[in-house]
Amino acid sequence: MTFLRATAEQWTGLTEAVLHADGREAVAFALCGVARRDRVTYVVRDIIALDDDAYLERAPDRVTWRTSAIVPILDRAAREHLTVMKVHGHPGGYDRFSELDDASDTSLAASVASWCNDAPYLSVIMLPGGQVVARAYDGGSIQPLDGVDVVGDDLVYYTRADHGTTPDFAQRIEQVFGKRTLSLLRTLRIAVVGCSGTGSIVIEQLARNCVGELILVDPDVIEEKNLNRIINATREDAERKRPKVEMLAAAIERMGLGTRVEPLAIDLFTPAAVRAVSSADIVFGCVDTVDARHLLNQLCSFYVLPYFDLGVKLEADGAGGVEQVCGSVHYLRPGGGSLLTRRMYTLDAVQAAALRRTDPVEYAARLREKYIRGVNEDRPAVISVNMLIASLAVNDFLARVHPYRHESSSAYAIQRVSLSHDIYVHEADATTCQVVGRNLGRGDVTPLLNLAELSE
Ligand SMILES: [Zn+2]
Repeated sequence: MTFLRATAEQWTGLTEAVLHADGREAVAFALCGVARRDRVTYVVRDIIALDDDAYLERAPDRVTWRTSAIVPILDRAAREHLTVMKVHGHPGGYDRFSELDDASDTSLAASVASWCNDAPYLSVIMLPGGQVVARAYDGGSIQPLDGVDVVGDDLVYYTRADHGTTPDFAQRIEQVFGKRTLSLLRTLRIAVVGCSGTGSIVIEQLARNCVGELILVDPDVIEEKNLNRIINATREDAERKRPKVEMLAAAIERMGLGTRVEPLAIDLFTPAAVRAVSSADIVFGCVDTVDARHLLNQLCSFYVLPYFDLGVKLEADGAGGVEQVCGSVHYLRPGGGSLLTRRMYTLDAVQAAALRRTDPVEYAARLREKYIRGVNEDRPAVISVNMLIASLAVNDFLARVHPYRHESSSAYAIQRVSLSHDIYVHEADATTCQVVGRNLGRGDVTPLLNLAELSE
């Protein structure tokens, strides 16, 4: 399977570059990173429009340009190990590649292969009204793309396969969202990182909403202290020290709704976990350390993924005095604001958490000498609050896949709840992040995410 993913801004930029009001064809290029897994996903890094004087001809049914115009594009693709993608418009609505397109693509694919060390080449046609036709030239074969995903405030999926007839267990979902959205849910692959208090409840909801594939990442085993809040966990699981992801995979299997699960009982800070999570279409972060949050935020920028971050905070004195019960759901779209720009943590806090994970002795010493601020452990938690925040996150996801809210999805970048202070607010976020955003669309690099810790 082969997919292409872009941000909504990039997609709008490409649309404006190739579909002109004058009704004549135009062309633009993009450079893409790639994630090569069991499926291949190209992710857009940068868009390069053609200057007006680079065109030789712009007609309603054909477009040609000076070959010299693409030399700098091929140069940069070779230097930065990126894939070249050509996008052109068919303003007349012709919904397939023409013979002229075939000739042009064959010759461009050959140039790209010889210039860029046998790199693949992508060709996309945009039609008025938002339809897309796309194909990839890779290692001698030409494949139509199985999906073109556009990640913005809303999540738009083009050309995904129809999933056929609706089973009885999905009828009520179809009554809400219709056949198209139900079918889409059944093609999605979602990674949930952290499978405990909020994660297990997110997973339950995604599986019962017929999501096609789930990748579950959590290295921990079930302990008796978790039994108050991990859905489906039993005393026997705790006694057997069963990995959380295995217990959840078995529970989803017992549901019998056809969701495929990849349980990974490994730490997020491993190449295998990063590879698996970056093969997904969507990421939910249900983790409680800032370094894991920061890693996921960066991963989602490298691979142009939508990221839902869940957080719950209960402040209590341990003797029955409850000061605060609150939580938040952050939706982070690639190219937009980050958890850093939203002041959820500082880079110092990320470093302190990383030290605690990688060198607990040194961490303890610095904590004693008050060089760093401590990380909270074993915080108070109850399932009723976790369920509320997990439901907010899953409903936010559904509203972005199938917009049903009165307000635009952009108004829900941050949702905050305080049960103790009677607050539910949602806010937009118009910021961008230099730290996280500079790696947008880079895809696979060595080491992964440019992190020495992930060297193989
Ligand atoms: Zn064409």
